[in-house]
Amino acid sequence: MESSNQGRHYLSMPAPYVRPYVGPRPPEKHHPHLPQRPVWACKVCGDPWPCEPAKLLMLMEYRKHMIALAMYMGTHLHDAVADFMRLHPDTPPDSTELFDRFLAWTNPRQHRT
Ligand SMILES: [Zn+2]
Repeated sequence: MESSNQGRHYLSMPAPYVRPYVGPRPPEKHHPHLPQRPVWACKVCGDPWPCEPAKLLMLMEYRKHMIALAMYMGTHLHDAVADFMRLHPDTPPDSTELFDRFLAWTNPRQHRT
């Protein structure tokens, strides 16, 4: 049997907001191509992350803050190295390949023609 104290506590709580069900979850609007850790594959297209759509989205988002983009991707590179070392402790990841994959494309000079 429920005590009266618990009943009062329950009644004093605000009613929870219940979002009406509107069908399948809509695609994420801002960052649909996110990494699936610890394998670092795109959650949407399955390509090695950052996939081409992810790079394009980030280049557009950070177009006036390329240093911030490099720092952001540097953080991901650090996390990816840790994940890959955990997944494959006997075969360290190729640092040149990871640098190209995570950081080289953030260099604005690379995008000038
Ligand atoms: Zn993708």
